[in-house]
Amino acid sequence: MTKTAPVLLVHGGAWAIPDDMVEVHLNGARNAIAAGWSTLERGGSALDAVEEAVVIMEDDEAFDAGRGSFLNREGKVQLDALIMDGATLRAGGVGCVERIVNPVRAARKVLSESPHVYFVAEGAERFAHEHGIELCRNEDLILPREIERLRKLQSSSAQRDDLFAPTISHDTVGAVALDSSGNIAAATSTGGTLNKAPGRLGDSSLIGCGCYADNQSAAVSTTGWGEPIMKLVLAKWAADRVASGNLPQWIAAEAMNYLRDRVNGHGGIILLDAQGRFGLAHNTPRMAWALKTSEKLEFGIERK
Ligand code: ASP
Repeated sequence: MTKTAPVLLVHGGAWAIPDDMVEVHLNGARNAIAAGWSTLERGGSALDAVEEAVVIMEDDEAFDAGRGSFLNREGKVQLDALIMDGATLRAGGVGCVERIVNPVRAARKVLSESPHVYFVAEGAERFAHEHGIELCRNEDLILPREIERLRKLQSSSAQRDDLFAPTISHDTVGAVALDSSGNIAAATSTGGTLNKAPGRLGDSSLIGCGCYADNQSAAVSTTGWGEPIMKLVLAKWAADRVASGNLPQWIAAEAMNYLRDRVNGHGGIILLDAQGRFGLAHNTPRMAWALKTSEKLEFGIERK
């Protein structure tokens, strides 16, 4: 069997990332690439690679995923994650979990060890625990930086429109990978939006919205203002257009135009097909991303 050359592409959110936060975002994305790539190099699956890459960014406090995520309006961390295998279309998602350090690990357990696709809240935590994932306290996921951020926001007179402006951080993380067997996978993990209502679920962990993978189309991860992305089922929209023969780079840009023109949304997208062709785009001022192939490592903060 001929081997495919692996590819790994990650993002660490799309918004007006300020100059003094550029380096931590790029470092986080490069560290994620290092972890995912070592999996691929050892002959590991795309599914394992995206899981490992996302775990690194969940553990990195620079991002809105895992510990250090934004707080909801009651001051709690509530996390969402999805992982999907393009070879089998198996997917695993968890939503509104409050006691899991690495939600993508729990999502992977759902994918690998459950006939179901999605678990939420306490049921998701119970499922994770029953499958060997240690539960933490919600306080363990909260940083003083985030308590302060929430306090400032709640005491300001920010209007709803401001809350969803591209200047508000969107530090969700995601990864797409192609392995040496020719399979693709995707994963996305988030703490959601700052000051969100308890129980609010965004696009990130919804199949076809913030994450999707099918060997016959593409692996996709999105970030940005979740509600508009959900309305367009944007990851699936993009994957379907790659399946119709369009180049991923062109579709990435088209997806961002569609998001802005149709629902006034903003965000970023990465996508990769089973031939190793990739695309990335954002309609925000910046998006942190990194790409690794057997020939090169590239990373950046603005559109390629
Ligand atoms: N899309 C995420 C959400 O709305 C936020 C983000 O990408 O930062 O939950």
